[in-house]
Amino acid sequence: MEIQKVGVIGAGQMGNGIAHVMALAGYEVVLNDVSQQALDAALSLIHKNMERQASKGKISEADVKAALARIVPSLKLADVGATDLVIEAATERETVKQAIFEDLQPHLQPHTILTSNTSSISITRLASRTDRPERFMGFHFMNPVPVMQLVELIRGIATDEPTFKACQDVVARLGKTSASAEDFPAFIVNRILMPMINEAVYTLYEGVGSVKSIDESMKLGANHPMGPLELADFIGLDTCLAIMNVLHDGLADTKYRPCPLLTKYVEAGWLGRKTQRGFYDYRGETPVPTR
Ligand code: NAD
Repeated sequence: MEIQKVGVIGAGQMGNGIAHVMALAGYEVVLNDVSQQALDAALSLIHKNMERQASKGKISEADVKAALARIVPSLKLADVGATDLVIEAATERETVKQAIFEDLQPHLQPHTILTSNTSSISITRLASRTDRPERFMGFHFMNPVPVMQLVELIRGIATDEPTFKACQDVVARLGKTSASAEDFPAFIVNRILMPMINEAVYTLYEGVGSVKSIDESMKLGANHPMGPLELADFIGLDTCLAIMNVLHDGLADTKYRPCPLLTKYVEAGWLGRKTQRGFYDYRGETPVPTR
């Protein structure tokens, strides 16, 4: 089945990036959110980010114009029903996502594929609440979407092969690479990345190294482009903690226990870049380590 029209639900950090890459690849996009403000902000950010790509010569002004014209914003979930593929990228709360799929159901065409960009919620559980678990799967983009090359494709227990193949084809048309992951907590990237970040926080907690020495060690000693603590601040410490909790609860193994220092930073509201303070303080000209 050829996908031509894509519905993106949630116009936040991820949703705007998904609409951006889909429109540039030639898909018609319906971008839905419950907030008009979120839709307005998403459209202006998409415009700004596409202009930046154009100024670097990666795309032409004509590409920008054509792609922007392919994105139709909408506050009505019913408008998403007429699409071939739905990518849900709303707030990471299971009740929110379940309500979206439930409200969407009466408006869907029989062939429409449903997917979720969730980082941690079980695809099989989300699928089981819909009328089409065989045409439901995980479509997990990385942040920032226009820049990151990978998309994890996650089959639920019931996902059929044509659905998986159709999503693989979409990823290829975006010029990105897909990795197939089974539906277990945090999939592949976060299953490996988050315990590493958590271990970096333990290394700090136990006094093995300072923020600076830990980040420098991993950048210069393991050739990572960013240190683990710097990366944690970029992702958001609340998100890191939430994913560690998903691993800990879902796999019932103490090796995934979140570091108490990570919990303390989150309790303090020091969530990283988004609150201007985390393992670094971003309120001045240059980031200053907080430990
Ligand atoms: P966000 O908070 O930036 O955006 C969420 C958007 O969803 C908001 O604009 C909100 O108004 C909207 N929304 C809430 N309820 C809605 C509803 N009922 N219908 C339509 N829209 C609704 O969040 P985000 O960071 O973009 O994350 C979205 C999803 O992507 C989550 O499932 C998250 O786990 C996943 N994800 C996030 C990242 C990341 O790095 N931020 C990476 C990969 C996947």
